[in-house]
Amino acid sequence: MAGRNFLFVPGPTNVPDRILRAMSVASEDHRSPEFPTLTRACLEGLKPVFKTVSGHPLLFPSSGTGCWEAALTNCLDPGAKVLIARFGQFSHLWADMARRLGFEVELIETPWGEGAPVERHLACLSADKQHHIKAVLVCQNETATGVSSDVSAIRKALDAAKHPALLFVDAVSALASIDFRMDEWQVDVCVSGSQKGLMLPAGLGITCVSQKALAAAKSAKSRRCYFDYGDMVTTNASGYFPYTPSIPMLYGLRESLKMLAEEGLQNVLNRHTYLAGGVRAAVLDGWKLKLCATEPKWYSDTVSAVMVTEGTNGADIISRAFKRYNLALGAGLARMSGRLFRIGHLGDCNELMLMGALAGCEMAMVDCGMKIAPGSGITAAADYWRRNAPKQAASAK
Ligand code: PLP
Repeated sequence: MAGRNFLFVPGPTNVPDRILRAMSVASEDHRSPEFPTLTRACLEGLKPVFKTVSGHPLLFPSSGTGCWEAALTNCLDPGAKVLIARFGQFSHLWADMARRLGFEVELIETPWGEGAPVERHLACLSADKQHHIKAVLVCQNETATGVSSDVSAIRKALDAAKHPALLFVDAVSALASIDFRMDEWQVDVCVSGSQKGLMLPAGLGITCVSQKALAAAKSAKSRRCYFDYGDMVTTNASGYFPYTPSIPMLYGLRESLKMLAEEGLQNVLNRHTYLAGGVRAAVLDGWKLKLCATEPKWYSDTVSAVMVTEGTNGADIISRAFKRYNLALGAGLARMSGRLFRIGHLGDCNELMLMGALAGCEMAMVDCGMKIAPGSGITAAADYWRRNAPKQAASAK
């Protein structure tokens, strides 16, 4: 099909040309004396993105899922108990992985469309007088339902219960797009990946580990080898990796970090909030549809999961959008299959790119028989962006 594919799944996200160019490099020796410069630029450059001074960013040749596994197997003893609220496919998968790896999983079942319930965490942690729970796992942004959770409130619940459990946070679809604070929230392991807010292809598992987690990893007896934090920290100290890294991905990451620093992390986060506001205006005010996120406090600034009306299959809209308009939208996963479609609004994105996506959604919905007033979504989004324009853009004549 002529023209660009409009990629609006919530990851992988669009890779800026600048990053693609930076990744276009000849192979080189990953044990050369110059290589540590690249390693250090990546690891040091990640620290402000994680908002950490004392944490250790680590890069694994994996996706986010590998970092989930690394967090569990490095920091916990076999059979250790973890606490996790399940409210979407990704929190489900992390819980399921923990169970399959032999850990004991205490689940806080939560309706899909809500986020991590702070009071219920507090109750579970307060009831655990013997401190059997060794880690609390939180999915900061549940990509399947477009729901964000308040990680700082979970930290406060741990503190209020005087509970020593480690805090693991999945920020796969939050890092560099929704505020994340490793040090302030005393997160022990943050799990992320390259293909979302960092605007890279998938292929780097990007994680950050606190001193407390590194200390736990020294004594934890779960088996791991390829994902061993100790091996990684030791080799990174001299600027190398324990095995062959993906060199183009490292060049891409260095460029991505430069771009984030040039825009300013706070501006990047503000841009995500602002763009998400326009998308929500299209969904709620324009199309008069519902989001899967049931209350504004759960709204995600990186992905909106749009509920389709009774009698429509969300999969038909996604298929129509793709085949007819060259627009890729995210599918409803697991129990949300057919009930929604997802618009990713993270990474390298602006109003007009989103206008294309919103227009494509409208056309696909109308084609599939949904009663959407053509133009209602893009009008509502434009209105929102006009009213909330960042100062510099607002003053432009
Ligand atoms: N966690 C969340 C919140 C995700 O959105 C995803 C993927 O989309 C994952 C974990 C799994 O990450 P990956 O696909 O990079 O392994």
